[in-house]
Order: sequence, then C-alpha cells, then structure tokens
Amino acid sequence: MSRSVTILGSTGSIGRSTVDLLLKNPDRFTVEALVAQKDIATLATQAKALQAKMAVIEDESFYSALKEALVGTGIKIAAGKAAVIEAAQAPADWVMSAIVGTAGLRPTYAAIERGAIIALANKESMISAGPVVLKALQKYNATLLPVDSEHNAIFQVFHEPHRSEVEKLILTASGGPFRTFTPEQMTSITLEQALKHPNWSMGPKVTIDCANLMNKGLEMIEASYIFGFPEDQIDILIHPQSIVHSLVAYHDGSVLAQLGIHDMRVPISYTLAWPERMETDLPRLDLSAIKQLTFEAPDANRFPAISLARQVLKSGKDRPTILNAANEVAVQSFVQGKISFLDIVPICEDVLDQMSESSLNSIDEVLLIDQHARQISEKVIHKKNAS
Ligand code: NDP
Repeated sequence: MSRSVTILGSTGSIGRSTVDLLLKNPDRFTVEALVAQKDIATLATQAKALQAKMAVIEDESFYSALKEALVGTGIKIAAGKAAVIEAAQAPADWVMSAIVGTAGLRPTYAAIERGAIIALANKESMISAGPVVLKALQKYNATLLPVDSEHNAIFQVFHEPHRSEVEKLILTASGGPFRTFTPEQMTSITLEQALKHPNWSMGPKVTIDCANLMNKGLEMIEASYIFGFPEDQIDILIHPQSIVHSLVAYHDGSVLAQLGIHDMRVPISYTLAWPERMETDLPRLDLSAIKQLTFEAPDANRFPAISLARQVLKSGKDRPTILNAANEVAVQSFVQGKISFLDIVPICEDVLDQMSESSLNSIDEVLLIDQHARQISEKVIHKKNAS
C-alpha cells in the first residue's frame, strides 16, 4: 500500500532531499500537498514531477505566477498563511515539517491535530513550543519521527523500554567552520565564511547556527523534549567527520551509535519508510577510506552558545521560546550585515535577561512570547547599533 505524503517546505534543502527520495520510489508514495514560500519555479516543477494533488505558496503575491506555471495540470493551487495550514490539514499519512523557523509551528501543529505521522526537521517548533507540542502529540495520537540527523540517530538506537538503563545521550557536532579558529580570528568572521559548512549542505539559517554551535545548543533542547532526558544527561561531543551521528550510553558501559554518510537523505528515508527501512542508491559508508574518526570536547569559551542553551534548558518554561526567537532575529541581522558574528549569542542573553519568566500552555501563548521576544531583540540590536 502506498503512503500519502505532504511536504511543508518542499523547495528548501530538506524538502528537495525528500522530493528526490519520492521521485525514486514512485510506487511507494503519493503526494497530497507541497508547500513553499516564494520559490514557485521549483514548487511547480516538483508538483508536476510528483503529480501532487495540491501546490501551496505562502506569499500571496506569487499566486498568479504559480497558477500560470501549473495551468492545465489539474493540480489544485492555493496561496497565503491559511492555505499553508489547509495543506497541513489535508489527509496525508505522513507530513514532512521542513519550513524554516517558527513559521513552521502552526502548520506542524495542524498536522499533529489530525494524528498524522510527523517527520520533524523544523526543530524550531519543538524548541519554542516543546511542552505544548508533546501534549498535542499525545492528545491527538500523532507520531513524531525526528529528522535532524542527531535525533534520528538516537531514535534508531534508543529503546523506550530501556529508558531507565540510559546514562547519557551524546549528541555529536562537526564543530563547524571555525572549530580551529583562534579567539582573534573569530572577531572578523564574515557571512561568506559562516555559510560554508565543512560537511553538510543546508539552508542558510541552520548553517549559521552550526557555525557558532547554537545549533547544537538548540538540538540539546530538542533532544531533551523528544526523548525526555534532563540537561545533565545530554552531552555534546565534537566529531569533525560527521560520520557518527549520535550515541546513547547505557549503564552497563555499552554505547550504541548510528553511523552514516553526511547526507540528509539517510535520516529522511528512515522516517519515510518507518517502521520499515527502504533501499536507497546513496553512496555507502566506507570506513576504510575514511580511516580516522576523531572526537574532542567543545570549547565553551569560544562557543558560549552551548552554556547558554544549557541554562535555558535547565530553567525551562518560556526560556527556550525566547532563545529560539532572539536567535532567529540575531541570525537574520547578521545575514543583513547589521551585527557581527560574535554578537549573536550576547544578543540572545540580553533578550533573555530582559524578559520575565512565564509558562507555556498553548500555541497562542507560545506565539505571543515569540513575538514579544522578537520585538525586544530588534530593540536590543537597534540600541547596540546606535551606541
Ligand atoms: P531552507 O531555508 O533550505 O528551506 C526552507 C523551506 O521553508 C523552503 O521550502 C521555504 O520556501 C519554506 N518556507 C520558509 N518560510 C516559509 C513560510 N513562512 N511558509 C511556508 N514555507 C516557508 O531550510 P532547510 O531545508 O535547511 O531547513 C528546514 C528546517 O529543517 C529548519 O528548521 C532546519 O533547522 C531543519 N534542519 C535542516 C537540516 C538540513 O540539512 N538542511 C538538518 C536538520 C534540520 P522557499 O524556498 O519558497 O523560500
């Protein structure tokens, strides 16, 4: 029986990898809806190639162009934020949540509400709304499959009945392009340098998050919510080759890891076929060619994002929501040349300090806190640039 799928964010890095797997397995999958923000050329090409039932563009100004690109195909077209939610509500068995940033939260939640299988790449949904998303997954009997390579690795080697036997989750990190930079070299990092990840090809936001290890801090929060372990049971290990994607250490001294080439189609294929595995034509891991796998502890002085994320995770409540929002604004400001690379983490700290603590009970509350944190972030950046 074929599985029907929807991709939220089909034109991005994760979306394109998912489309590639679908195109190679036409008998296993049918496509309900594809969603993008602006890239109508890619969206239209994907929709035609996959014979999708629906193509949705979030930015309404592209509606006519999308309509023109798909005229005569019979593919339903829609535009706007409400249409994105409708696409998530369409009856697909499996939904790839790969919109970048907090914009992915409402559509992901809409798919959860109808009990779908959610392949979660959009980590921001889990980081900013973890407790609310977890409650909804239970309430609507939806299934969450982590796509992020580290969480996908843990998902593959962690077995719920053995929870009490787990000592630590160990998240690996490549260390990014600045792993060996001196503190002096780090003061003059350019956007171009930050956008060059040594191993992975990803969208710009997550690539910059990897460069200052904020991504790993955010992933620690994501792992804590998904697998239900506290901050002091999650370690971070720098592994520059990105071959060991993460590990679970058990209390008998055994450590189980998942290994693979650094290509997101590996974890995506695991979620697409779950609970089975599907064959892929991807290059196979050749450890004899790689020869050496190395590991080191992260440097907390040069990469303060990890300690900040640890504090945020320990404090809980709305702190992760604020960190996620402030970081999105700060990264955007770095991309626009308004702040330097090393400003990103202190700006997040400043925003966290300025906001008093509150609890998270609903998506609306999360989005209000998110909005507030964005406004404060803009003010902090404005003030910094004015002084
Ligand atoms: P990209 O920037 O490459 O793609 C983002 C996608 O989201 C695009 O399809 C974009 O459309 C769409 N989009 C953006 N804003 C909206 C919106 N408001 N409404 C609807 N669609 C929107 O990102 P990535 O694929 O790299 O990342 C996606 C998510 O996956 C992120 O949360 C990231 O952290 C996570 N992730 C990514 C990994 C990777 O390898 N890339 C690895 C692990 C996690 P358009 O193209 O039209 O702008």
